[in-house]
Amino acid sequence: MAAKKAKKTLDDLFYETLKDIYYAEKALVKALPKVAKAAQADDLREAVEHHLEETEGQVGRLEEVFKLIDKPARAKTCEAIKGLTEEAKDVMKDFKGSDALDAGLLSAAQAVEHYEISRYGTLKAWAEQIGLDQVVELLDATLQEEKNADRTLTQIAEANVNRRAEAA
Ligand code: ZN
Ligand code: FE
Ligand code: FE
Ligand code: FE
Repeated sequence: MAAKKAKKTLDDLFYETLKDIYYAEKALVKALPKVAKAAQADDLREAVEHHLEETEGQVGRLEEVFKLIDKPARAKTCEAIKGLTEEAKDVMKDFKGSDALDAGLLSAAQAVEHYEISRYGTLKAWAEQIGLDQVVELLDATLQEEKNADRTLTQIAEANVNRRAEAA
């Protein structure tokens, strides 16, 4: 067994992943206003605006987590969120002014929520494993917001489908 390999621990993995989601949340603070502006339906725009407020709070929660583990709050490029926000930009550009725009925005937003749910679920499990009780609480608060956001988006998508069916 290589000595080098043994030096990396779950603590290191936790810190690296924390930097990844910190980058992602900060990128979303910049991206969500563009999605809100592009949204055609009021309920979708309001949901995105509301989640923007939550996202700003999530950045603050992550900064508390960095403090609790006594590490500098640093962001590390998250290639996943870069890709997902690029896809969202494509939808905004390619479907601008079309009836399908909101459906595209909804699907892009849900892809982001699912990524975040995955990351926070993992981080919370690792924090439990490491025994960081306060950190677990902070991560769980954000995880619940991400799950609620995802549920709200599903409801809006379903309501849209119903509206369209009625209009037909
Ligand atoms: Zn609000
Ligand atoms: Fe978030
Ligand atoms: Fe990432
Ligand atoms: Fe989110």
